[in-house]
Amino acid sequence: MHVKKIVLLGSTGSIGTSTLKVAREIPERIELVGLAAANSVEALADQVRETGVKHVGIYNPDKEAELRGLIPSDVKVYVGLEGLIELARMEGADMVLVAIVGTAGLHPAFAAIDAGKDLAVASKEILVMAGELVMRAAREKGVSILPVDSEHNAIFQCLDGRSGRSNDEISRLILTASGGPFRTMESGLLESVTLGQALKHPTWEMGRKITIDSATLFNKGLEMIEARWLFDVEMDRVDVIVHPQSIVHSMVEFVDGSTLAQLSTTDMCFPIQYAVTYPDRVSNQLKPIDFAALGKLEFEAPRRDAFPALDLAMRAGREGGTLPAVLNAANEVAVEAFVDGKIGFTDIWGVVEKTMDAHEWNGGDYLELLIAADADARELAVGFCGL
Ligand code: NDP
Repeated sequence: MHVKKIVLLGSTGSIGTSTLKVAREIPERIELVGLAAANSVEALADQVRETGVKHVGIYNPDKEAELRGLIPSDVKVYVGLEGLIELARMEGADMVLVAIVGTAGLHPAFAAIDAGKDLAVASKEILVMAGELVMRAAREKGVSILPVDSEHNAIFQCLDGRSGRSNDEISRLILTASGGPFRTMESGLLESVTLGQALKHPTWEMGRKITIDSATLFNKGLEMIEARWLFDVEMDRVDVIVHPQSIVHSMVEFVDGSTLAQLSTTDMCFPIQYAVTYPDRVSNQLKPIDFAALGKLEFEAPRRDAFPALDLAMRAGREGGTLPAVLNAANEVAVEAFVDGKIGFTDIWGVVEKTMDAHEWNGGDYLELLIAADADARELAVGFCGL
């Protein structure tokens, strides 16, 4: 049996540590051969010792010396963005899993595809900013793009076995959303939401940025754009339904009126494992669903007026070009400003909308153009945050 060799970028984060858990559980199927983080040298050094990897990346060059002091001297250290790119191209690796928060994973992702590696993508930013380019590059190189995000992984599972078949048979991709902590909150009260409240996700334990995005529903908006590129359907066939239990991870409705769904308990190890063992299913210790204990699954329409993130994402996805990158960048700036107490919760939507309105639309899809749009949007958004 072939043991898949994986480079994991963002190993110290929420997805990263879950990936280590999966690797611990099925060592006969996957082996981590490279790890990388931004700053967390101690956690990274612990992981190097645990996994025995001989290749490790650190984004912040100021942390290199400290990291070297904590790990065996025969481990090769890769530094900065150039280092991450080199790591992503590493000889001997079959797959690169990108779980870096933010846009720093973009160049390493393209490097991995260019080097002929399969790419498992957790980082939404990559597909939101450059989905069309990523999918085209993957087709040209004949590599697979495997979604780690639970919703896209669910759709991927529902579409399994349909490769080469026409997408015309898909009538809708239905992304499920927990609705976040403010699902039922009166619109008027959203203005005074605090950081502490926004960080309390009802069903998932995740990193900070994505938890805030789940509260504003920008997370779902970003996922709509991701889905559009991953599965090559236009935005109007990407829909969202609120499902507070987060058991159904997403669904595909076909033109004959049948719907397929993927269900599991809320543990990111499920989608991570499927992405890294695809197309095989491998037994593990994860808890299956106890349907009797669960009792019921509920669904409701999202409150699009109270949570404008969905419509903003729909607009960005429909217009395409640089606008998805602008939405993503403006949202990152606004979330940071909210975390720092500089703007209120509902201002996050306003900053994104104003930035989208102010950005000069540029057609075309070149990577450099997208990166320029990202930088432009950050500058505009900083202004709209009053920073
Ligand atoms: P976390 O904030 O928990 O972790 C981020 C990881 O990325 C850390 O290992 C961090 O290192 C590393 N990192 C950040 N910047 C860089 C950089 N420039 N170079 C190298 N490493 C870097 O994030 P999550 O794990 O929650 O999310 C990661 C990605 O996955 C995001 O794009 C998110 O949207 C997506 N995702 C997350 C889900 C979840 O359940 N958490 C679900 C679906 C998608 P350090 O520790 O040193 O800062």
